[in-house]
Amino acid sequence: MKLHEYQAKELLARYGLPVPEGQVADSVEAGLAAADRLGYPVAIKAQVHAGGRGRGGGVRLARNRAEAEEALAAILGMTLRTRQTGEQGCRVRRVLVEQGVEIRHEFYLSILPDRASGAMMLIGSTRGGMNIEEVAAENPELITRIRIDPLAGLQPFQVRRLAFALALSDVQERSFFDLLVNLYRAATENDLLLVEINPLAFTAADRFLLLDAKVEVDSSSLFRHRDLAGLRDDADQDPLELEARKYNLNYIRLDGNIGNMVNGAGLAMATMDMIKRAGAAPANFLDVGGGANAVMIEHGFRILLADPRVRAILINIFGGILRCDVLARGVVEAARATEVNIPVVVRMEGTNVEQGRQILAESDLDLVTAVDLGDAARKIAAIAGEL
Ligand code: GDP
Ligand code: MN
Repeated sequence: MKLHEYQAKELLARYGLPVPEGQVADSVEAGLAAADRLGYPVAIKAQVHAGGRGRGGGVRLARNRAEAEEALAAILGMTLRTRQTGEQGCRVRRVLVEQGVEIRHEFYLSILPDRASGAMMLIGSTRGGMNIEEVAAENPELITRIRIDPLAGLQPFQVRRLAFALALSDVQERSFFDLLVNLYRAATENDLLLVEINPLAFTAADRFLLLDAKVEVDSSSLFRHRDLAGLRDDADQDPLELEARKYNLNYIRLDGNIGNMVNGAGLAMATMDMIKRAGAAPANFLDVGGGANAVMIEHGFRILLADPRVRAILINIFGGILRCDVLARGVVEAARATEVNIPVVVRMEGTNVEQGRQILAESDLDLVTAVDLGDAARKIAAIAGEL
């Protein structure tokens, strides 16, 4: 679950981290009142769940009231398109109005779990304020990664190593240790999947300031972070993904045109690979769960069909907990109830598979049955090729 920048900064400020003074606003009037109170210059920043706002026109500096009014009017209500929002963009409903600061240098700093080792990784670079993916591609030597032992925690020698890599001055190094310790505490105590400070500014007043903060909380941990759970804002989320969550379906929308419905995340990944390999493109990831029942299948159908890009459906179910005959009846009923009018390929395997296949064959539905996963992928790709 992503937090907005203003929420992230509130959280980090509680850990003693230095953030600019600011206030969130949802109208030009409220924004101007905040700017007047803070004093000029101010930074006005779109609050959406996406990076790259600066380049997309979602972050503006205003030196006076007139500029602030203009920036607020331009940003509030705009559809912000950045490299992270995709074509459809994100509608800006709120801005953060912050005290503008004079920047001497912009650093990059982040802490996130390293998938390979399972430990937290501290990442820093002198190239802050720009797209870190670009730095990684063009100047990988300018990025320092330090793995933090989960039992030992962040160690002073690691902070010194990063300070050296960032060529910090004595003044900078003095406050750097506390900053990192606090950031690491915030990341671990809140089960964060990402805390990214880009830029970490060193200001003309000789202090570090977290000018931007991107925080992602592990959704599975929200039961023990009730305060964070309340910060969820679904406005930027795909409506079909929200709908799927209501029914406990794991659904992620993708760019292709083959809707697929699978039970089990691993099988779903394999199915998507097979679709790709056969030359077609999946429109989604959809895991109806290992213990899927006919009702879940019906919800799955509805969500797939609600996506106008879906032109054909592949159902791949392994009947373990759910027997294939029960599943087949569920598919037939769901297909009827949802009035499926696009081609559907079904591959199933497992307990009572013969009865299941018979039920599908005897139904008056226009289903294509497949004998195995390879067959299913070939058949769906052939259908896709004719679309
Ligand atoms: P992002 O593009 O979504 O990552 O948004 P950021 O919050 O990082 O803002 C983009 C850029 O705006 C930063 O890299 C800074 O260079 C600049 N910026 C943001 N706030 C201020 C500020 O208070 N003063 C100045 N001078 N620049 C700022
Ligand atoms: Mn940034």
